[in-house]
Amino acid sequence: MTVKIVLAGPRGKMGTEAIKMILKEQSFELVGCIDRINNGKSLNEVTHVCENSIPIYDDAENCFNELNPDVFIDLTVPKIGFEHAKSALKHSIAAVVGTSGFSEEQIDELAVIAEKNKIGCIIAPNFALGAVLMMLFSKMAAKYFPDVEIIEKHHDKKIDAPSGTALKTIEMIKQTRKSKNQGHPDEYEILKGARGGNADGIRIHSMRLPGLVAHQEVVFGSKSQLLSIKHDSFHRESFMDGLKLAINEVSKLQNLVYGLEHVMNLD
Ligand code: NAP
Repeated sequence: MTVKIVLAGPRGKMGTEAIKMILKEQSFELVGCIDRINNGKSLNEVTHVCENSIPIYDDAENCFNELNPDVFIDLTVPKIGFEHAKSALKHSIAAVVGTSGFSEEQIDELAVIAEKNKIGCIIAPNFALGAVLMMLFSKMAAKYFPDVEIIEKHHDKKIDAPSGTALKTIEMIKQTRKSKNQGHPDEYEILKGARGGNADGIRIHSMRLPGLVAHQEVVFGSKSQLLSIKHDSFHRESFMDGLKLAINEVSKLQNLVYGLEHVMNLD
């Protein structure tokens, strides 16, 4: 069966890579795109990666009403990505969200709509399968190594910090790590922010530089030993196997899951 797909953010770096992947996959059909400019144009007029005439909409409601796709993919920015995902789920269209930076309240709101309409939604802070494993290994390590800090590095066009992957890593670490006030109790910063962001007592250090794509190191410290769990995405194609998996799995769900590990069958 062919999966009919609508994608938001077709001119973006992730959107461009996703279009290339979708067009190569025989079981996927890109039926439309959502783009805030180029309404009424065809995708082949605005991007070199597609030769087909695929309609572009600037309005998600119109797009979903006219095309009624099986799966919606969002690769934009948190503010508009949330509105897109909400609209898709209200139309009972399964949603795969790669856009990072949704608040807990936004995720909860989408979960309620998905549950009510019995429709699948996957919010994946990181589609790279290696990054998902990095998070799972960190969860295992945190049981024995409660002193931990995260260094995440991304390209300088990223607007949110810390990364969704770093926050998700902390959420997973918290499942096994005993709550602990780490570091010196009298620690203070001479330069504000020098110790990074504090998420539930765990420090996250965010670096933004040209040349980087998406990188994270989770460093665990203990007596006379350090454990580092590190993942690097060198190109956006590293995210495409996970995106493909999410597209195939989302239609089997009737609720929202946060994180690709929920559909990776890792047992
Ligand atoms: P990007 O190159 O900046 O692309 C963002 C896209 O969103 C562009 O097409 C942009 O169009 C569009 N956009 C921005 N503001 C908009 C608005 N107000 N309304 C409609 N469209 C808007 O970014 P990217 O690197 O592709 O990343 C896209 C998203 O995916 C980000 O949230 C990023 O953090 C996330 N990401 C996720 C993963 C993962 O594995 N889950 C991996 C990498 C990135 P304009 O040109 O008009 O601004």
